[in-house]
Amino acid sequence: MLTTLPPTPAVASRLSLDAGALAHNLGVFREIVGPGVRVGCVVKGNAYGHGLLEVLPAVHPACDVLDVVTAQEAATIRAWEARTGAPRRDVLVIGPVDATEAVALAGLGVELVVGDPSLAGHLPALRAAGVPPLRVHVHVDSGLSREGFLPETLASELAWLREAGPVVEVVGVLTHFADTEDVTEQTWARRQLARFDEGDRALRAWLAELGRPTALTRHAAASAAALVLPESRLDLVRVGISAYGLWPSRETRISTRLVRGSLPELRPVLSWRVPSQLVKTVPAGSYVGYGCTHRCRDETRVAVLPVGYFDGYPRLLSNRAHVLVDGRRCPVLGRVMMNHVIVDVTGLRREVDHVVATLLGEDGGERVTADDLADWAQTISYELVTRLGAHLRRELVAVDASGQGTD
Ligand SMILES: *Cc1c(COP(=O)(O)O)cnc(C)c1O
Repeated sequence: MLTTLPPTPAVASRLSLDAGALAHNLGVFREIVGPGVRVGCVVKGNAYGHGLLEVLPAVHPACDVLDVVTAQEAATIRAWEARTGAPRRDVLVIGPVDATEAVALAGLGVELVVGDPSLAGHLPALRAAGVPPLRVHVHVDSGLSREGFLPETLASELAWLREAGPVVEVVGVLTHFADTEDVTEQTWARRQLARFDEGDRALRAWLAELGRPTALTRHAAASAAALVLPESRLDLVRVGISAYGLWPSRETRISTRLVRGSLPELRPVLSWRVPSQLVKTVPAGSYVGYGCTHRCRDETRVAVLPVGYFDGYPRLLSNRAHVLVDGRRCPVLGRVMMNHVIVDVTGLRREVDHVVATLLGEDGGERVTADDLADWAQTISYELVTRLGAHLRRELVAVDASGQGTD
């Protein structure tokens, strides 16, 4: 007999997402950019690991545009809107697509960034499909050397627009900064903005020559630029990491304080908790974990947690991180394993047989941030959160002022 089990194991870590924090963070950006600028929320990478479907109920009503990388993510958003009766938001795909995906996006009313020559090859499929025009934003490479056209060659690379006919409509122009997060002065970003203007002018001259509309939505700023470089906000900002309550970098924090005179409050959205698989006492002199890299000097109470690098808890946290239990810091002993982490719970106020450990988030006034974990694992918060396993259970909760979650 086949037994149907819930999709995630009962004894496993789970992520809880603070709906109020998501709305608050996007509200912070709305206030910073003011009424004339639209706020886009970047939900690529499974909403920076937070869970695309889980964040949508909080993010969708709080922004004007949703930015994704894949056509699949865009289709997920359209399906969610249809299912919940939510109004359609503008959705912009910033990654590469094939002909089938381009046709699907046109049908779904999703916009696409054109940053390489591939779309010209998709025109026959778009014509044959009889779908509404595909609305595109042209990407100007202003100094990142990733997607986009150089201002000098933009018009010739878009020569195919002459024969494209009505299946493609150019509605926007954008660029992306290379060096806004790692610095406290924005010299390179300002040069990029000047290059972007060149690209924008070249594009509009070409569109005018073709007799096409030249009123375009212009956008450039991700989180950091939206915070520290007012002239980059243009018509629309694309807020990723900071929608999730995280600062792009220490430098961005410092610059924001300098530029604005005060720090806006960004509220971290994510908490990651795990119940213990077992708690036990091991004798003095015991080794803990693979490689015997930790040895207990004294008798030690350890909690074995059913979480590991499979779930996105980096192995570089071995012997380095701590988790929180009952508001106390409990060090990770030995190596992080694929499905296990062992922590020292000897220091708790009372001897316990079961614990719930906070890997990321707050517990009793103590806090482990995504930046803490990222620093210990020699990476950045972007990578840390994005690598949280897609298989983990995620719950969007409304957190009231007392910090207590209510489902
Ligand atoms: C990821 C991305 C963003 C968002 O960047 P954050 O630093 O997370 O705000 C904006 N624009 C483009 C093109 C991106 O790829």
